[in-house]
Amino acid sequence: MTRLFLLGGLLAVFSLSLAAAPQPPPAAAAAGPKVIDIVKLKDNLYVLTSSTPGNAATFSGGNVAVFITDGGVTLVDDKLAGWGQAVLDKVKSVTSKPITRIINTHTHGDHTGNNNFFGANVEIVAHENTKANMMKMDAFKGDNAKYLPAKTYADKTTIGSGKDRIDLYYFGAGHTNGDTFVVFPTLRVLHTGDMFAWKDGPLCDRNNGGSCVAFPQTLSKVIAAVKDVDTVIPGHSPMQTPKDLQEFQRFVADLSRHAQDSMKAGKSVDDAFASFSVDKYPGYKNERVKGSIQAVYDELKK
Ligand SMILES: [Zn+2]
Repeated sequence: MTRLFLLGGLLAVFSLSLAAAPQPPPAAAAAGPKVIDIVKLKDNLYVLTSSTPGNAATFSGGNVAVFITDGGVTLVDDKLAGWGQAVLDKVKSVTSKPITRIINTHTHGDHTGNNNFFGANVEIVAHENTKANMMKMDAFKGDNAKYLPAKTYADKTTIGSGKDRIDLYYFGAGHTNGDTFVVFPTLRVLHTGDMFAWKDGPLCDRNNGGSCVAFPQTLSKVIAAVKDVDTVIPGHSPMQTPKDLQEFQRFVADLSRHAQDSMKAGKSVDDAFASFSVDKYPGYKNERVKGSIQAVYDELKK
């Protein structure tokens, strides 16, 4: 183990020096061990990170909440297929309790990829539309249908009570048509899944009922309904605050409105993208803005 860690460290230093070189070979890091970072939010709540897309070697899937209750551990999402053992190892590093429940915030494989790894004895919970979306995935066909959510809900549901309580909310379409917001009320923490993935244009998966038109309203609803939180766990970036979520709502509302207005004015997607600036949103990128605009155009075209 020690040698592996040393090797990992050396590789990290090596990759850092390569990063400055003109053409770093991408395969060098890909061969490394599967490493997931862990962030402690509370004594009984951790987040498994390494969730930033873009680097195939370190991208493990979305942020996973690890909630330790009297009856066992609840995971919110379970990362990409192939990362199950790495998830389990990290959970074991903070508790000896078994994983008894997985909440899938939505259908995508970087949030549901290890339902099968954790086995049929784990209770899987998701919004009813997410279960329907998962049923279309090859990963849940045939014998693997037993790893689909056994428990679903429509608008709101509560699991557990007292300090172990978890509230699940559905507020409408956005990233998909089945995105769950997960609240740990006694800890004042909200997990948004990919309804707040990053500080950039949202991904609206129209094949799974996502909507960049409805997205801002859906975010407004969670902001209005879930007030008693201090910490927000986003889908694919570092921990945020409710103020960050409010800012993201304003950003998405601006972007969606701009796309709709540009379309009505007969502008192309390229022109709409060129005339949208993220400058008034500190720290925001525009790498995914064009995709969000395209999703609005696709949704509204007759
Ligand atoms: Zn997603």
